[in-house]
Amino acid sequence: LNRRLAEFGTTIFAEMSALATRTGAINLGQGFPDTDGPDEIREAAVRALREGRGNQYPPGPGVPELRTAIADHQRRRYGLAYDPDSEVLVTAGATEAIAATLLALLEPGDEVIALEPYYDSYAACIAMAGGTRVPVTLRPREGAFGLDLDELRAAVTRRTRLILLNTPHNPTGTVLDRAELTAIAELAQEHDLLVVTDEVYEHLVFDDAEHLPIATLPGMRERTVTIGSAGKTYSFTGWKVGWVTASPELTSAVRSAKQFLTYVASGPFQYAIAEALRLPDSYYDELRAGLRRKRDLLGAGLRAAGFEVYQPRGTYFITTDITPFGEKDAYAFCRALPERCGVVAIPNSVFYDDQTAGRGQVRFAFCKKDSVIEAATERLSGLR
Ligand code: PMP
Ligand code: GLN
Repeated sequence: LNRRLAEFGTTIFAEMSALATRTGAINLGQGFPDTDGPDEIREAAVRALREGRGNQYPPGPGVPELRTAIADHQRRRYGLAYDPDSEVLVTAGATEAIAATLLALLEPGDEVIALEPYYDSYAACIAMAGGTRVPVTLRPREGAFGLDLDELRAAVTRRTRLILLNTPHNPTGTVLDRAELTAIAELAQEHDLLVVTDEVYEHLVFDDAEHLPIATLPGMRERTVTIGSAGKTYSFTGWKVGWVTASPELTSAVRSAKQFLTYVASGPFQYAIAEALRLPDSYYDELRAGLRRKRDLLGAGLRAAGFEVYQPRGTYFITTDITPFGEKDAYAFCRALPERCGVVAIPNSVFYDDQTAGRGQVRFAFCKKDSVIEAATERLSGLR
């Protein structure tokens, strides 16, 4: 293994899901729903398979039906107009979109500002591209995580090439608001930076939170690569359908890298997700309402069990503080948790450059059946 990758080991999601399988523990670690998405979308995939649509290599940029549906979705939800032919690219999940974007846009030595705690693939992909990550840490304030704009401004140097955003943010559940995004947009324009924004949780926002794509802000469309995914929105994380929307120049750059990573993926699933993107607004309303209820169910159970809970305004994760248990090492805590009480969770410490920073934080997923959440919190209540 080369030096660029050696520091990353095995992704925490594989490690913790394997632990859940080995021990039979309830898996609130890796973020995937335990109920599949809509039947009619599954049937659409079966139909595509039977009718021989996508069983052989689809076009490299993605099938036209899906690219058009993605463009329509961005227009309908956000008023963003993208040309399906030159400004939309289908990828093998958001994971490939992130990799291809960073491989395409970074020169060796370029600095990437990323919100920390960061999704683990960001650090690995920045490293594979020869870049340097510069974390800007979201910090707890008033029971939730927030961004310090002065810290962000101070992170910009002559070498900064791009800002990598993630909103709604995994693992903290932070949703960047208009004022924060406006400040980031101004910074990007002042220093001529690109913005790459991972919006895979765009539909999972709660309470009064609203998802605002930074590409909608003045002057940003031309310098922003927006990344989306069907995995979270339609509860088909195994299908690995993701996408990029950006200017023709940026889309073409990302496509240059993508063609040598997978060329294409997910033939029949692309047709099914094209149908999913046309589901009525009521689908998203129900998804959100169901998940908000589950968030509250898990949050109440975790509090009752003695965890300190940071209230998420988006995603399907809750970050907790385990220091009330006298615990100081999230990784050790998570490794021992299946033995102690039959539950698997994710230590946020692995999402920090300085792992001591997240030592007290553990993430739980709530995209699970109510009975599973209840059983898990019942087990966790034995911790004290
Ligand atoms: N970005 C974030 C923030 C994620 O949490 C995930 C996990 N789904 C991904 C990207 C990867 O998405 P996909 O499964 O579509 O590759
Ligand atoms: N995004 C998912 C999570 O944060 C995991 C995806 C993966 O396993 N790479 O849990």
